[in-house]
Amino acid sequence: MPLRRFFKGVVGDGECIAFWLDLWVCNEPLKDLCPNLFRLEKDKKCRVKCRVGLGEVWKWSSMPASETEMAELDFLDSVVESVNLEGRRDKWQWLGDMSGEFKVCSVRRLIYSELDYSNNYVLKWCKWLPIKCNVFIWQAEMSKIPTSDALRRRNMVGVEGSCALCGEGSESVEHLFTNCWVAMRVWNHICSWTRVQHFFAFSFRDLIEVHKHVGLKGKAKKVFQGIIFLSCWVIWRARNKLKFEGKQVKIEEVISDIKSIGFLWVRSRAKFSNLSCSNWCKYDIV
Ligand SMILES: [Zn+2]
Repeated sequence: MPLRRFFKGVVGDGECIAFWLDLWVCNEPLKDLCPNLFRLEKDKKCRVKCRVGLGEVWKWSSMPASETEMAELDFLDSVVESVNLEGRRDKWQWLGDMSGEFKVCSVRRLIYSELDYSNNYVLKWCKWLPIKCNVFIWQAEMSKIPTSDALRRRNMVGVEGSCALCGEGSESVEHLFTNCWVAMRVWNHICSWTRVQHFFAFSFRDLIEVHKHVGLKGKAKKVFQGIIFLSCWVIWRARNKLKFEGKQVKIEEVISDIKSIGFLWVRSRAKFSNLSCSNWCKYDIV
């Protein structure tokens, strides 16, 4: 992993920070978050000030058109909108150490501890879910969500390693969404509800691909994919509420959140405008 990944830019006038290459506005460089658009970018080394605050300033070699490119563009627009340039110069924050101070020993520690994150997997986004859910799945697939396991790998001190939900096993993406009994109960319930054969996912990638292997086609397959993605997002939210607000996790609540949020989104975003809540609860969707 390049060392520049351990500096986060704090935007001032946007003169120094590279828009695509540096870490600044999200937890990943934009080139990794929007790889398809990055491919279309004409000036890959452009600075933040060239892409922010001047209205429509994208410079594409060809206009974004595919589904994924458009989804990435939506995401990028929302990111750019949230940024305001200021008169002061850009600053850099060192992420390799809790203190934020740059030290050679912490660089060395990082270089030896980092795993190989090279990853060519291309996630197929679920169109009826909002960007935030898709981005979450995408980051989880790359093990880039802040599980205890990931934080400990990054030398964060004082992080409890066991799973917040079950107290057993180390809290990794794989554990939280495939092995943890909370996740397993959610998947069992989802399979019964949607009348899909019960599955067992061995890895997170298995899980986000499972809609392809349970005998579904067309719309039913897309809805099921969304339910799996949404469920992961709801489980993660419940985990955060437990961890940061001390709110106990109840399986029934996780499931009812999945169903109620799913109903709102599927109806408004997947063109199921006539779907009633009772049909959704019976999973009578087509
Ligand atoms: Zn667990």
